[in-house]
Amino acid sequence: MIARADVSAKRSDIERGAIVELPRPHTSYVGVPADTPVVAPDHTYNENEKFSVPPSNFRYVTLAEARSWDCNLCGGCCTSTRSDAKPLHMYTFGRLPKHQWKKYNGGVPLIIPLTKTGAPRAWREEDAKGDGPGFVCSALRLEDDGTALCGLFGSPRHSACGEYPIFSSVTDDEVLKEDWHTIPHTTYQRSCTWVDIVICPEWSPFLRWRDESLRMPVSMSAEQWSFVSYMFNVAWRLKAETGDVGQWELDELKALAARLP
Ligand code: SF4
Ligand code: SF4
Repeated sequence: MIARADVSAKRSDIERGAIVELPRPHTSYVGVPADTPVVAPDHTYNENEKFSVPPSNFRYVTLAEARSWDCNLCGGCCTSTRSDAKPLHMYTFGRLPKHQWKKYNGGVPLIIPLTKTGAPRAWREEDAKGDGPGFVCSALRLEDDGTALCGLFGSPRHSACGEYPIFSSVTDDEVLKEDWHTIPHTTYQRSCTWVDIVICPEWSPFLRWRDESLRMPVSMSAEQWSFVSYMFNVAWRLKAETGDVGQWELDELKALAARLP
């Protein structure tokens, strides 16, 4: 969620009940490589094949590096309509209780459910079930230059705000304690600073193999590519929570990493 923003009080599209404006082309956002695919890799990467080659645009970084980057205020995490989720409910705020988190918003509903076409609608019982509805946050302020600001910045907010996508203690635990290669949940935020990255533990050979663009160079050996593919597949399965990842896999890959160049 948007972390660095000042309050700019202006009547928003959301308050007018209008369909919320879609994002500008993702390539215009600071920190997002120009060749970042506009199609989420979920639809192009074969997670069922352990040795399928990972999407070539992924960048491989340490947690400290990733945390040194700035949020570019694209707003892709604060409403489904500025994400690239299709349909919109592929990206939600989560299960939405009847109170709609109004305690953070002066008693007025904060998280507003959206219709399939992106117009604000009233809360329904079904919004509190499953993954929740497509949404827009009523604290989101869209600026004339296309950036999005958080109207609650500096005030008490939902814990997810300020932690998204890599700033929660869960990410520390995954990378620093569990030794995971972690892929943040930015699949549908194609404009996000942290789109399509793998956060690597310090021992990862990716950190010595990567090129200046933080990607895997094409000119690696077959053994290196085999390792990259398998390790990426494990990271993907951990992110997507699809299929069990055995501790033995993690242990074997870490041992192999120490033997590789
Ligand atoms: S309060 Fe709303 S606008 Fe602010 S960070 Fe959270 S979701 Fe985004
Ligand atoms: S999607 Fe990423 S870059 Fe965009 S506002 Fe959210 S945290 Fe910032």
